[in-house]
Amino acid sequence: MTSEITGGCLCGGVRYRASGTPLNSRICHCRQCQKAVGAAFNARILFPADQVHLEGRHKTRHSSSDLLRGFCPDCGTSVFTHRLSSDWISVTAGSLDRP
Ligand SMILES: [Zn+2]
Ligand SMILES: [Zn+2]
Repeated sequence: MTSEITGGCLCGGVRYRASGTPLNSRICHCRQCQKAVGAAFNARILFPADQVHLEGRHKTRHSSSDLLRGFCPDCGTSVFTHRLSSDWISVTAGSLDRP
């Protein structure tokens, strides 16, 4: 089954869509995720990076050499993480249009 999901940050400056079958959805309680999203856990949905299309101005920051965290510089929403070694992008479940 293939489908498309859409989402974006609080102010709408960053938008994304992802298509195809997600690899999985997960909840991470690690300290890096807690800090990055400012919450007890980070619920997110993983896709191969080439299935995720980002639009709008965003910033990224490495939380480790392998992991980039993407966020909106205007409203601060954590939008995605990009695991470079496996080339997976996960979008935050809270930023989905229809969570
Ligand atoms: Zn924003
Ligand atoms: Zn984590």
